[in-house]
Amino acid sequence: MGFATALLDLLLPQLCAGCGRPPALLCGSCAGLLTALPRPAWPDPVPTGLPRPWTATTYEGPIRSIIAAHKESGRTSLARPLGEALGRTVQTVLFQHGGQHGATVVPVPSGRAAVRRRGHDPTWRMTEAAVAGLWTAGMPVNGLQALRQRRRVADQAGLTVGRRAANLAGALEVPPALDVTGRRVVLVDDVITTGSTLAEAARALRAAGAEVIAAATVAATPRRRPAVKHGARR
Ligand SMILES: [Zn+2]
Repeated sequence: MGFATALLDLLLPQLCAGCGRPPALLCGSCAGLLTALPRPAWPDPVPTGLPRPWTATTYEGPIRSIIAAHKESGRTSLARPLGEALGRTVQTVLFQHGGQHGATVVPVPSGRAAVRRRGHDPTWRMTEAAVAGLWTAGMPVNGLQALRQRRRVADQAGLTVGRRAANLAGALEVPPALDVTGRRVVLVDDVITTGSTLAEAARALRAAGAEVIAAATVAATPRRRPAVKHGARR
């Protein structure tokens, strides 16, 4: 993490990152949103190859602010509560899919430019916190940065589902020097929207011989039905 980022986090007044009220980094009400029971979070439509997605909460209201504060505003202390929510989701995944034996938690990689701009890698920081929480809970899993970008990818925001898939096709890879053959992988990311990034990450890991058992995220965007977009009444 950059020095300036760390300093900023120390100097910012302790207002809740979710609702903006004092006196703490997270008020009780916003922290409570992060302790919901993990649930499946299938996008609609489901991209090809998407591993079964699980999420801790819904990407709306204070959760959006908390994730943005961690990711973009350098409030790195949020890695712990976010990582704990992610860790609980991974734990649910492992209970559902045959235990932690040999499981590896792999984050969707952040682009190098984004890491430079932000001064830290929020997804990896959160992954480390999740793995630490799992060890404390008696589930010794590994965290591994097993993926990297093969080429630059345009920002996914604002692209249609089809364009997102095209933008991402073949974008990620496991470095050839890293052997992930036979590893049982839980993919992790902060937010699942269309699922196309997680599907591409799973493709790259499977191509390298890993078994991707599921994906876990902190938050999932609420599902929007086409009927609503076209103005029809529900
Ligand atoms: Zn709050």
